[in-house]
Amino acid sequence: MRQKVVIGISPGKPTFFCSAPCFLQLKFLLLPVIKNPYDSPMCGIVAYIGKRPAVPLLVEGLRRLEYRGYDSAGLSTLGNGRLHTRKRVGRVDALATLIREQPIDGSIGISHTRWATHGAPSDANSHPHADASGKITVVHNGVIENYQALKDALVKEGHSFASDTDTEVLAHLIGKHYAEGKLKDERGLLDAARAALRQVVGTYGIAALSSDCPGVIVGARRGSPLVVGIGQGEHFLSSDVNAIVAHTRDVVYLNDYDLVAVRADDFRVERLDEGEARVEISKVAHDAGAAEKGDFPHYMLKEIFEQPQTIQNAMRGRFNRNESSAALGGLNLTSTELRNVDRIIMTACGTSWHAALVGEYLIEEIARVPCEVEYASEFRYRNPPIDKNTLLFAITQSGETADTLAALREAKRKGHKALGICNVVGSTIARESDGGVYLHAGPEVGVASTKAFTAQVTVLALIALLLGRLRHLSAMQGSRFIQELESIPDKITRILKQHDAIREIAAKYKDARDFLFLGRQCNYPVALEGALKLKEISYIHAEGYPAAEMKHGPIALVDEKTPSVFICPQDAIYEKTMSNLEEVRARKGRVIAIATEGDTAISRKADDVIHVPKTIDALYPLLTNIPLQLLAYHIAVQLGRDVDKPRNLAKSVTVE
Ligand code: GLU
Repeated sequence: MRQKVVIGISPGKPTFFCSAPCFLQLKFLLLPVIKNPYDSPMCGIVAYIGKRPAVPLLVEGLRRLEYRGYDSAGLSTLGNGRLHTRKRVGRVDALATLIREQPIDGSIGISHTRWATHGAPSDANSHPHADASGKITVVHNGVIENYQALKDALVKEGHSFASDTDTEVLAHLIGKHYAEGKLKDERGLLDAARAALRQVVGTYGIAALSSDCPGVIVGARRGSPLVVGIGQGEHFLSSDVNAIVAHTRDVVYLNDYDLVAVRADDFRVERLDEGEARVEISKVAHDAGAAEKGDFPHYMLKEIFEQPQTIQNAMRGRFNRNESSAALGGLNLTSTELRNVDRIIMTACGTSWHAALVGEYLIEEIARVPCEVEYASEFRYRNPPIDKNTLLFAITQSGETADTLAALREAKRKGHKALGICNVVGSTIARESDGGVYLHAGPEVGVASTKAFTAQVTVLALIALLLGRLRHLSAMQGSRFIQELESIPDKITRILKQHDAIREIAAKYKDARDFLFLGRQCNYPVALEGALKLKEISYIHAEGYPAAEMKHGPIALVDEKTPSVFICPQDAIYEKTMSNLEEVRARKGRVIAIATEGDTAISRKADDVIHVPKTIDALYPLLTNIPLQLLAYHIAVQLGRDVDKPRNLAKSVTVE
């Protein structure tokens, strides 16, 4: 069977997600420059082939990827006809030190930062992994689910392994097929990779190098992103454009089951099985600076401070003022189709799941469309009844989250409309969904998500407005909602000015071992998100609860040592939340309150108060969430935690 092959370059076209409602504006602003994926999975791959020394380029690229997975790093180069590999447990700095001690050269190389799934972080388990002959090395993102069976078979054939990883099995498998094949050249290597990958169950983004083929790097993807970077007499392969954007902005996002041969002067994409490879060149819209920390000590703080802008970007061009509504052309649904939607399911993981819970409140309150929020990891294995007028939204910052992607595919498989809400343009979810809305939040590098959350809530508010205006929401109500939404960025700027005061509050509470976060209605998901932020980056145990539900259990945790963070803006149920606050006070619990500006009464009740400006009830989450991000941030910094790279976490989870 002969695969259809595409060599080199063909003009790109934008993904179906519409970034703005006005097509003229869209064309004017964005075309022919197509916004691109700037982020995505855990761990990372960078590969280079050209004329320049590969090592500095690879190490620099790995540093840019380090936020996504960071327990070990390694690289292989081809120099003087031989493979040279250096790898070491720890951060990229540790690898850089090793290379200074034991230098290698070559102008072709592959490299990797690892987030261990199979085998502890160790030098031996670090990538690249070699095949039995030692002539091929492989780096891999993802999980080979059937690695044990494959390994057992290889051991029977006499293979011995130097690591506990699933990846090494793949390297041996490629080597075995190469050894058994007739061709000892690039074609032979590609065919060996194809044969091996066909035996593999699981997910992968790979790059492979062979000393027999010094003019090529072989790559392939299924489930883990991989991008070809096109330069002048040089090419890159990476799991993330951030690693290569300093060198080229012309990229090709590979599709699942693509196999690619990357050479200095060109590249060629084939399909793993029959079918035609599609090659579209996209232009990366941001430069390397967008993913820099600037003057901020951490990406997370930078991203917290970006939120006034992020929210503006999420709204830009998306209001239809004549109609007092939102304009979201990328949903690819007519007004009639939107009018017929009688149920919405939102599926997501982690922080995006919390944003979805706020979205549920917004959509039910404003549009009166019944909504359900499901963990993607649960949804994908359930068989929930979904009728034809149900709309599914898959919500994910990266657009690569494995569970969310699987949930989307499951819905599509059953013939349902499945839309995406994601940040990364060109990501898998953006490409596979029937339509959707981009966040336009820019690269989010901090592992703990901040600006993506507020951008997601903003987009969900726009969806609520659009659906509401197709139903009972009056033009007056729509205009008022737009006005309030547009005032949010300035209000966030006001909250951010309390940065120093929040730092001092953090100092008072940083030694607590447990925290409670309590809120009601749409501030309940904010409580969940506040607790998650604190857990993620400070490693302090925290629980988010509906404030009134607390008395059914968690109140047992309350004592002088367990602070409670109350999210109690002056909304419709302010008094009720205040009663819950009193219940905690009565048990000697210390209270940090997030309250509305001008609420002086609360200062007499709470130990510490952080104020947020007034807004309408449904939009408070966009404000009340900000102090909680800063509180978690300062507690973590004061405890000496590695805020941007918390232990055990990866930026986006591309494994189940
Ligand atoms: N499963 C591989 C390992 O544990 C790859 C992990 C990764 O994606 O970094 O080594």
